[in-house]
Amino acid sequence: MAEKNLAQVLREQMRNNGKRFWAGDNVSEFVDEDKKQQLIDEATVAFEGVLDTLLIDREQDPNSKGTARRLAKMYFNEIMAGRYEPAPDATAFPNDSQDRYEGMLVVRSELRSMCSHHHQPVSGVAYIGIIAANKLIGLSKYTRIAQWCARRGTLQEELCNDIAREIMKATDSTNVGVYIQATHGCCENRGIMAHSSLTQTTVLKGVFATDPSVKKEFMDNIKLQQEFAPR
Ligand SMILES: [Zn+2]
Repeated sequence: MAEKNLAQVLREQMRNNGKRFWAGDNVSEFVDEDKKQQLIDEATVAFEGVLDTLLIDREQDPNSKGTARRLAKMYFNEIMAGRYEPAPDATAFPNDSQDRYEGMLVVRSELRSMCSHHHQPVSGVAYIGIIAANKLIGLSKYTRIAQWCARRGTLQEELCNDIAREIMKATDSTNVGVYIQATHGCCENRGIMAHSSLTQTTVLKGVFATDPSVKKEFMDNIKLQQEFAPR
């Protein structure tokens, strides 16, 4: 019997541990840096097979020579990096002083993602609204968390949920809203070939869902950001 490659061994390990490994799941507890390099080697060979099947001469065509390896590295290190890297370190600071900020915070985060159905690019922005609990995280951390969730194979609806959940985890706040507006390569480059495929999703938790004035303030903030955001 042929020896198992690392990807097979890891898939078995995850199955035995009851660990889900869908395109949008993080598998970093099973993949350290050495293993990642080995998986990039295995994916290179696999992509070479795909290019061969597509009848692309990767030996003579100078533009296709390193493509299999470029694809393998791009998947692991860039477009799906959020699957293999642990959660960004979001050091929290106490928000329990007398003059603590009790208002709403809305952060605009640029997102680059990829749809898990077609592996086509998704690009857009997430607006993350929060009413802080007793923990504050640095402003850039909201975007780091959102990007870590986005750099996987995703569905926009799921991505919206994932960002809300991870922000709640990092901040201990139960009052979080996430609004994503994105265009989808899978609608623009194929299928219906729509020139504009703008899709909006909203997830509201806690008072964002139950208090209409909080929801309105969140939506008004988004509109303000959209008016004044640098393009
Ligand atoms: Zn798609």
